[in-house]
Amino acid sequence: LWWVNSKYRSDEGDDLERIGLLGWLGGFMHYLDREGDELSSHRFPGGTSALCSLMAGSLRQEVRFGQVVRRVTQDASGVTLQFESESTERFDRVVLTLPPRCLEDVVFEPPLGASKRCAVEACGMSRAIKIALRYERAWWTEAGWGGSLQTDQSIQQTWDGTLGEGAVLNLYICGDEALNWLRNPDPVGSAGAELAATYPESGGLLLGGGIHDWINDPYARGAFSHLPPRYVLDHMPDIVPPEGRVHFAGEHTANWVGFIEGALESAERVVPEVTR
Ligand SMILES: Cc1cc2nc3c(=O)[nH]c(=O)nc-3n(C[C@H](O)[C@H](O)[C@H](O)COP(=O)(O)OP(=O)(O)OC[C@H]3O[C@@H](n4cnc5c(N)ncnc54)[C@H](O)[C@@H]3O)c2cc1C
Repeated sequence: LWWVNSKYRSDEGDDLERIGLLGWLGGFMHYLDREGDELSSHRFPGGTSALCSLMAGSLRQEVRFGQVVRRVTQDASGVTLQFESESTERFDRVVLTLPPRCLEDVVFEPPLGASKRCAVEACGMSRAIKIALRYERAWWTEAGWGGSLQTDQSIQQTWDGTLGEGAVLNLYICGDEALNWLRNPDPVGSAGAELAATYPESGGLLLGGGIHDWINDPYARGAFSHLPPRYVLDHMPDIVPPEGRVHFAGEHTANWVGFIEGALESAERVVPEVTR
């Protein structure tokens, strides 16, 4: 049972008590289109940022970073965005791809409709963190395995995160356990010690590492979305429709909830919506 729990917790990014059955079944359907047993079965050479750089490089407009939207005001002829810097900019239409918790931080004038606000608020954001452990050498390769592991211990899941030089093992930890690790004053040392208890050959090879916390990241407020119990029936139809000239996209508005495929699916849906 722990293995089933571990496998689907990894896909959903949170403890399974928080996941609705219908939403989970929707996600499970996507397994049926895959040859292997894995939902996260492909890796980008060079890391996921390589995909973003390639996409950004193909755009005609420059991508502006560090522009935090705080207020969205729309009238009959357009939409004005106000940024944290107090500067404003006017557009015919806007597509907002902010994660749900971040959307809740934005002021809308006029306010979003009640059903949209409820759908945004009810959409779950998964509690997940990563701990990266940097080793002197890839002891897991020497021991004859690829670094992928699911365990009933508190480190939950590992895989080889080596990119270029150095040997890195990534731990991916979800749910209540993620919060426990955030309270740990030395997560890297403790995680290394937990691994060394099972794999003594790793002892003494740990050079350092780091922790990444999406839960408290103000521009994510969670790793990615999931569908809590009753969400599909009560709220899912309301997350997608535009409100006037303001359109909504991002993985939380897609059938492929929680995955890059969902973000891309939502882009394909929203472009005709805007250009219609
Ligand atoms: C640990 C982890 C592991 C994952 N593993 C996989 C995987 O194996 N396979 C997979 O397919 N997917 C995976 N994902 C999920 C994948 O990253 C997301 O589904 C995808 O990035 C969603 O894209 P998006 O554009 O909808 O949202 P995001 O990528 O979250 O983009 C939202 C953007 O909005 C910005 N933003 C927030 N607030 C504001 C504001 N007020 N003003 C302006 N901008 C703002 C944020 O900075 C961010 O750039 C993983 C995610 C995490 C965290």
